[in-house]
Amino acid sequence: MSNIEEFRAETRAWLSENCPPGARGPGEISWGSTKLPVKDPDTRLWLERSAEKGWTVPTWPVEYGGAGLERDEYGVLMEELRRIDARTPLTGRGVNYIGPTILEYGNDDQKARWLPRIARGEGGWCMGYSEPGAGSDLASLSMRAVDQGDHFLINGMKIWTSDAMWGDWIFCLVRTDPDAPKHEGISFLLVDMDQPGVRVRPIRLISGNSPFCETFFEDAIAKKEDLLGELNHGWTVGKRLLQFERSTHGGVNTSGTQRSEDAPRLADIVRGYVGEVNGHIAQREMRVRVTRFEMDSHAYRLTQRRAMEEARARAPGSASSIFKMCGANLTQERADIHREVMGFDGLGWEGAPFSDEQTQVTRTWLSSRATTIYGGTNEIQRNILAKAVLEL
Ligand SMILES: Cc1cc2nc3c(=O)[nH]c(=O)nc-3n(C[C@H](O)[C@H](O)[C@H](O)COP(=O)(O)OP(=O)(O)OC[C@H]3O[C@@H](n4cnc5c(N)ncnc54)[C@H](O)[C@@H]3O)c2cc1C
Repeated sequence: MSNIEEFRAETRAWLSENCPPGARGPGEISWGSTKLPVKDPDTRLWLERSAEKGWTVPTWPVEYGGAGLERDEYGVLMEELRRIDARTPLTGRGVNYIGPTILEYGNDDQKARWLPRIARGEGGWCMGYSEPGAGSDLASLSMRAVDQGDHFLINGMKIWTSDAMWGDWIFCLVRTDPDAPKHEGISFLLVDMDQPGVRVRPIRLISGNSPFCETFFEDAIAKKEDLLGELNHGWTVGKRLLQFERSTHGGVNTSGTQRSEDAPRLADIVRGYVGEVNGHIAQREMRVRVTRFEMDSHAYRLTQRRAMEEARARAPGSASSIFKMCGANLTQERADIHREVMGFDGLGWEGAPFSDEQTQVTRTWLSSRATTIYGGTNEIQRNILAKAVLEL
């Protein structure tokens, strides 16, 4: 038996023994927040066992809580997880964004302090990038951090901070030299959210949900040892983190075990609407769209697999923008088609005459609008691709 076949056999045996039934199929997934503890005992057990084995972050070095897996082993692990429909044991900005960034930019002390606890899911992370005056033009950010000797004093605000009401820690881009050119006076700080100087206010959406917040920093403190990268050189660190974020959205980040759901094929879903009086699947144009969508999705999956096999790091560099943008477009097209084939039935928001299943389609369609905004809009991804990949 080759080494990789042996690895597959061992993986399969371990999973069959250690992945509890309640951790398979849809359900709860921890992102590390101590304020939202995992309720389901099987999910908790699955996280503990995976962390013990190093499989919450399989490609990280063993000393930092990973399993030191090679790329082909990682591929096998993901296939075996998918085979038994095991849920990701741990997700979120810890394992997928800040963890791999600390691995690349942290000093030895920071790696030893932060990575094992991130790998165990001890603490949920938020992202403090956007400000009211700095979204696409992120380098215009103005939240100030002033060097006070053993700590930084932070004043300003962030906006659109997802999950801030449940966060334990937040990584922030801050301005440390207001006189330097805008990309050069920025630093990257790790900040404890449980302190009097940090206050969050949920932003209420028309849907009634509040998935993100305004986050206010009023004399908040970050320890000196929590400066990641060099003072005033945080822009480089911050851009790399964005590549991890975009790769996660695009399904090509090999840091955690984030995997996209094996959603049912759109063609199979729309077939269910054949003959519906209100539906639109009888239209030739719609059938062409469904066919094109299936072909594009297939090409996308093959390209994801190729990128992951070729990747020399845990996530591609500027090319991660391709996956983020194409993945977002596909998500939106899928939601558009699904809603449109339903005709009038795809317009329900809540209550009769619409079923829960029908209103869910409308809500998925509306929330899919955000995919071409978060992590940098499609226009910004195109700018990056033009400059950094095509060198135009
Ligand atoms: C669901 C969701 C979750 C989010 N979570 C977080 C989070 O946790 N933390 C965080 O920091 N941020 C978060 N964001 C914010 C997100 O990163 C910003 O919304 C995004 O970067 C766009 O910035 P903006 O909203 O200020 O839009 P703007 O920058 O004002 O852009 C407005 C429009 O102008 C276009 N545009 C701007 N500049 C250019 C240009 N140079 N060329 C071409 N077109 C341009 C944009 O593409 C867009 O269509 C989240 C956003 C969403 C929707």
